[in-house]
Amino acid sequence: MSHIHTHMMKTFNFSGYDKEFREATYVILGVPLDDTSTYRPGSRFGPSAIREASQNLESYSLRTKRDVEDLKVFDAGDLIINGTVEENLDRLQLVVGEILAAGKVPISLGGEHTITYGCVRPLKDAAVLSFDAHLDMRDEYLGRRLSHATFMRRIAESIGSERIMEIGIRAICNEEIEFAEKEKAEYITTLEVMKDDRRRLIKRIHDFLSKFNKFYLTIDVDILDPSYAPAVGNPVPEGLSPTILLDLIQSACDHNLIGFDVVEVSPHYDYGVTALQAAHIIFNVLAFTNKNKT
Ligand code: MN
Ligand code: MN
Repeated sequence: MSHIHTHMMKTFNFSGYDKEFREATYVILGVPLDDTSTYRPGSRFGPSAIREASQNLESYSLRTKRDVEDLKVFDAGDLIINGTVEENLDRLQLVVGEILAAGKVPISLGGEHTITYGCVRPLKDAAVLSFDAHLDMRDEYLGRRLSHATFMRRIAESIGSERIMEIGIRAICNEEIEFAEKEKAEYITTLEVMKDDRRRLIKRIHDFLSKFNKFYLTIDVDILDPSYAPAVGNPVPEGLSPTILLDLIQSACDHNLIGFDVVEVSPHYDYGVTALQAAHIIFNVLAFTNKNKT
């Protein structure tokens, strides 16, 4: 029995995509987990809000001059949440592992950022590129070693810090800076993104990704300024615009992307705009990668 069959529950589909698993190039899965949220819980409602937003956006990408409606995308529904965070991440790892083993690209809809730990564990030899206002690299936060504020430390311990680059950082503590610098995890602050020479910045991203033959992309929607994306678990002022974010992601997608997630939409804190940002990011990443060249 497949892990998708056992551990997923059907929902309505992302956009109009209606392919079956076997013919799909991309597999969407919702992960409605927000057990470790510390400020504004509710990202368990993220997957359905992002799916709803996706049905009300055009699938044509002006950045690539491509319509992504013909891409082969299967929506596997939502992971069944049951038990501890660790148990849920274990099942998520089985599902994502099955998708990767079938040569397909998993696209996970959060849920809190902790889910990325489950998505990344099946990967071997991949880099992890993260867009986030936070490093999420504390050793422990409010009594938990596994949470939205610590999971990147756990990833660093399991795949090696030198495989991690985090972009758009602007909310950070001493402990995280010390860890990232000592362990050589690369990070680029929001101020560097806004003020440094853009070509130099893109070269830094290319230089990092060129060291690996594939990469996993994680987008915490709090990377965006709260004026663009107010409904997130931990909003931080002075964020990026969607245009700059998509420019950077488009450059990164010159490299071999094998999976990605969009997390931390906590939709009850606005009237739908943050979920629209998340769906728009997903449509664009589909266009940037365009794996089945339809
Ligand atoms: Mn995060
Ligand atoms: Mn964040």
